[in-house]
Amino acid sequence: MKYPIEKSEEQWKAELGPEKYRILRQKGTEYPHTGQYNLHFEDGTYSCGACGEPLFESGSKFDGHCGWPSFDESIPGKVEYAKDTSHGMLRTEILCAKCGGHLGHVFNDGPTPTGIRYCVNSLSLAFHKK
Ligand code: FE
Repeated sequence: MKYPIEKSEEQWKAELGPEKYRILRQKGTEYPHTGQYNLHFEDGTYSCGACGEPLFESGSKFDGHCGWPSFDESIPGKVEYAKDTSHGMLRTEILCAKCGGHLGHVFNDGPTPTGIRYCVNSLSLAFHKK
């Protein structure tokens, strides 16, 4: 087993529903500027939309003007990185280290001191207010 949490695709499909399944398990992307957390700036923690593991703190969130929730760091050890050459681009995919759920991509063009921009689908996240 590669991940601490593994389920069959049928189980994931039943638990997540079609939209979240498409993003989290089939590496889909939600339309920009449509996600519920894009311009959401309350204090709290963003967990994995599939398994519930805490991934990002609200203090690391910023408005990336890209249409998706943007963070300048993850909670240490919670995010896994993978090379993604799809769509004729070389990008770094980010995944939940606990369940392998697709989160989005990470870029080195962040405007904050970390220089990092985690670009994450709202549907890959679940917010928990502090
Ligand atoms: Fe997860």
